[in-house]
Amino acid sequence: MLNIVLFGPPGAGKGTQSQKLIARYNLVHLSTGDLLRAQITQGTELGLRAKRLMDEGLLVPDEVVIGMIDSALQANKQAAGFIFDGFPRTVPQAQSLDELLAQHNTNVSCMVALEVAEEELVKRLLERGKTSGRPDDQNEEKIRKRVTVYNTETAQVAGYYAQQNKFHALNGIGAIEDIFGQICRIIDQHQPATPESSRQATDEVKA
Ligand code: AMP
Repeated sequence: MLNIVLFGPPGAGKGTQSQKLIARYNLVHLSTGDLLRAQITQGTELGLRAKRLMDEGLLVPDEVVIGMIDSALQANKQAAGFIFDGFPRTVPQAQSLDELLAQHNTNVSCMVALEVAEEELVKRLLERGKTSGRPDDQNEEKIRKRVTVYNTETAQVAGYYAQQNKFHALNGIGAIEDIFGQICRIIDQHQPATPESSRQATDEVKA
């Protein structure tokens, strides 16, 4: 299984790159932000509680997002792998993800972090807010709050994966296709060899 954690502050391009990666690697996309917004749309109690925090740019409690990921893994047992977008955002979430994946006899293959400076993030998110309809994209103060939460609470998750030699950082400013190519090169280093890919590699060496 190929399990990618796509990491970076809000507005770094995780959603855009996720769409391209799921098509290339046939992965199931798990975005905790999307899952939470679906709960809000459905008007569930969980959604109502989450909305208050999300509108303020604050994190939703760990157990809420971990529970959603647990259910999503259970519901996608046949998946070739997952791309985790916006999760894990805290070290306890990262630890839980390791435990959950172990229950499915798999693990995180690698984490790719997209690095973008705060001023560029603010510019991108204000632009996205014109069409996204997301309340947390609508004003600069809220956007800066989310970036601060990322820097204070989420950035340490990178260290968690660095300790496991799974952390890779990329400049998230540039052409979408160039960044996509760089992400693919990193992922391909971590791809578990399949009988088919091993045969292809052997054939290439022979040729
Ligand atoms: P995103 O769509 O990833 O930008 O997430 C939007 C908002 O959802 C965040 O600002 C948080 O309030 C909440 N959220 C999404 N993912 C998580 C997570 N893994 N842990 C806690 N809160 C989250």
